[in-house]
Amino acid sequence: MEQTTYQRPDEHGYYGSFGGAYIPEMLHPNVEELKSRYLDIMYEENFQKEFHALLRDYVGRPTPLFLAERLSKQYNTAIYLKREDLNHTGAHKINNAIGQVLLAQRLGKKRIIAETGAGQHGVATATVCALKGIECIVYMGEKDIERQAPNVARMRMLGATVIPAVSGSKTLKDATNEAIRDWINNPTDTHYVIGSVVGPHPYPDMVARFQSVISEEIKAQLKVTTGKELPSHVIACVGGGSNAAGAFYHFLDEPSVQLVAVEAAGHGVNSGRSAATTQLGNPGVLHGSKSLVMQTADGQVVEPHSISAGLDYPGIGPMHAHLFKSGRGTFLSATDDDAVAAAFNLCKLEGIIPALESSHALAALNQMKLSGKETIVLCLSGRGDKDLATYMNKMDRI
Ligand SMILES: *Cc1c(COP(=O)(O)O)cnc(C)c1O
Repeated sequence: MEQTTYQRPDEHGYYGSFGGAYIPEMLHPNVEELKSRYLDIMYEENFQKEFHALLRDYVGRPTPLFLAERLSKQYNTAIYLKREDLNHTGAHKINNAIGQVLLAQRLGKKRIIAETGAGQHGVATATVCALKGIECIVYMGEKDIERQAPNVARMRMLGATVIPAVSGSKTLKDATNEAIRDWINNPTDTHYVIGSVVGPHPYPDMVARFQSVISEEIKAQLKVTTGKELPSHVIACVGGGSNAAGAFYHFLDEPSVQLVAVEAAGHGVNSGRSAATTQLGNPGVLHGSKSLVMQTADGQVVEPHSISAGLDYPGIGPMHAHLFKSGRGTFLSATDDDAVAAAFNLCKLEGIIPALESSHALAALNQMKLSGKETIVLCLSGRGDKDLATYMNKMDRI
């Protein structure tokens, strides 16, 4: 049996004490099928060929590893940006969407379902379904459909059916419930694409493996530019944790590399309006796995807050809960205001408008004690076009 490491969960999907599969009885056949087949399918020669060809020719990989000279000068150390913002559709989510849709096809599935909050994962999934000519249904809270009109329009243009979730708070949690209900009702022909390193085993491991192309490229690119394949630090923002898992993956079992995960502090960690899960959460079950969850004493999930839709999530993937608990990862947080300031700073210094999520990772540079000898790689998970309305509201700050 494979040994567990920080990289790999055990055969039941546990990273330390976090992970597993906590699902209704009626989902067992679907999750079992995926669990018994995902590794064989993913590492088939033809699968790898098609996956990597699409990453290259459709997504535009490898994404550059860019030495940000003026930013480096500001912090008096070397800072490289891993440019996931240059991917087709503008973020890292497409890596996982391609992987899962190819896998679904090999499982003989004819229908793809997904849930989305802000719509980023829905757009990535709808994109790949259009490419592959496969039916796509995206569940989305009714309230989110109103708030995220441009992404709803994108999904519809791409041929997806967007179904409103009208129960409860009419947001992500309710959309997830609808997607799970759909999957239970369509066990043989449907694959459920989860968008981050969350959900029941094997999703966290599967998504981390699809996103691990990020750190695979970083290693090779650093080797070429610096002569060494290991950086001193890798910094990434964490919502569910997929861009961080991808950027950390090939460094997880390299103890010399410091892994820095940055959560959203919202209005401040203790303001009651935040999404800093490791600071505020306790062990609990969310979205099918055991992890850290922001919850009340009696286990009610707390409504999170972040200015960035992608980090506005009350949980964190089990790999990250384990990195936090074991001390292997350093967990920092940045407030809404810190993130906006860091975004404007990057625009002026490097001519890059970052996503609000990625701006949290940039903001964490201010909190790090730097000697000047570091080689820092920061995962710029996405571009800021989608956040322009928010940035426009903050324009008076600059
Ligand atoms: C969705 C998203 C995130 C957060 O998701 P993770 O799974 O934590 O990576 C971060 N950055 C961008 C640009 C996103 O779209």
